[in-house]
Amino acid sequence: MMALRSVTVPPDGGDDTFRRIARSCLAQGLHPDEVVFDADGTGSLFEPAEPRDAPTILMPRRFVELVSDVVCHSAEDRFALLYRLLWRVQAGERNVLEQAADPDVQRAQQYAKAVARDVYRMHAFTRFRERMIEGRPMFVAWFEPQHNVLRKAAPFFADRFTNMDWIIATPCGTAAWQDKSLHFGPPVARPPKQDDAVLDEVWSTYYRITFNPARLRVNAMLAQMPKRHWPTMPETTSMPQLVRTARTRVKEMEQRAPDRPPRFADVLSERQLGAAGEAPPPWEALKEAAHACRQCPLHAAATQMVFGEGPLSASMVFVGEQPGDQEDLQGRPFVGPAGQVFDRALAQAGIDRGAVYVTNAVKHFKFEPRGKRRIHQKPGTIEVTACRHWLRGELDLIRPKLVVSLGATAALSLAGRPVPVTKERGSIQSWSGRAVLVTVHPSYLLRLPDPDVAAAEYDRFVADLRRAKLWCERAEQ
Ligand code: SF4
Repeated sequence: MMALRSVTVPPDGGDDTFRRIARSCLAQGLHPDEVVFDADGTGSLFEPAEPRDAPTILMPRRFVELVSDVVCHSAEDRFALLYRLLWRVQAGERNVLEQAADPDVQRAQQYAKAVARDVYRMHAFTRFRERMIEGRPMFVAWFEPQHNVLRKAAPFFADRFTNMDWIIATPCGTAAWQDKSLHFGPPVARPPKQDDAVLDEVWSTYYRITFNPARLRVNAMLAQMPKRHWPTMPETTSMPQLVRTARTRVKEMEQRAPDRPPRFADVLSERQLGAAGEAPPPWEALKEAAHACRQCPLHAAATQMVFGEGPLSASMVFVGEQPGDQEDLQGRPFVGPAGQVFDRALAQAGIDRGAVYVTNAVKHFKFEPRGKRRIHQKPGTIEVTACRHWLRGELDLIRPKLVVSLGATAALSLAGRPVPVTKERGSIQSWSGRAVLVTVHPSYLLRLPDPDVAAAEYDRFVADLRRAKLWCERAEQ
């Protein structure tokens, strides 16, 4: 009777583990029927030591790719299946994977497809929340994949969110991107329900706005977005109602179907081509492109995108945080209460607002709805990073002598890192080849409860603006 050998398979064993085990089994001439792969990794089992003279295994490229997918599958027989196929390859069936009707090949392909689907879902349905961890902004997400795909899926997030620190926790391990390097760690316990009212509201609004009832296919939607992922996806709270009202909405849409392009499209094409069909100048084109921006969820809830304004020949550009309630409604920067403080301080510093360019680091208003009011929310690193493209575009076109950075968000966008504004206030920095004077945001002056402190801080703010003016005048001489 044939003696069976048991091999421990670690739960997170990847393709390296499979290769090591397979090389050892092959070196000992173990037929697939002689090996039991223990997928729990718990038994008192034979761990095949790799003989020194274990031969190098030559695997066809397609087989290597298949291994890298199949080892991520949660099926207990994944290693046994791969070893059977490998045994056949080594025995001379080099083209075994081309035998589409072969039961082992079919099953391996099914496993590979399921893993690829799971990776896709992880990319599509992971939702980050911003948290402060040890004084640093960190984006955290919990995701429950069906298979062990964390290592396969994580590089996508590293490419996509290179400039922020993030952690994705799953029941089978964690992936962390910190200081631009990717680390994997052990699993952590499932966190209590993640709650971030603002971000959740933004995602829900975004989903409601982009949901097209005419294209609703409930079964396909459930297959694409399995219910087990819903708890970590805030937009799914709107789904039952959207599904319930879909038919009525489709009827309404049919009744009011336009026989001409929507007004926005007309306006956009007029603006883009101009009356004579010419291309717009670069600043207008940049502004139009920003109007259509969907790089972060903020556009979904805001009234409009608020771009910078002022002469493009300005030698000074002021960068604030984001539009506030009034700016969002009027479509112009610095026209609310903080804008009034700003105007007064500019005048006292001898700076003509009409001669400078004023803009924000983030172009859409971030707020938390509270009853009928919209409460300002500080933009997070995701939004600042996503929006930096537009600010850079403005600065590249204007090429000012000096940029005045108003507050921490502007400094984060301009420097590409958090800046201690109170410490560096009044100093002139060189960030990305630009001269930048750092000071506070005028809204900070409005929040100071002590009138004496507020008056003193206001004077310091005016002094900072005077310094900026003087620096510019000298640079122009
Ligand atoms: S805030 Fe900036 S990045 Fe986000 S949608 Fe608006 S313009 Fe785009």
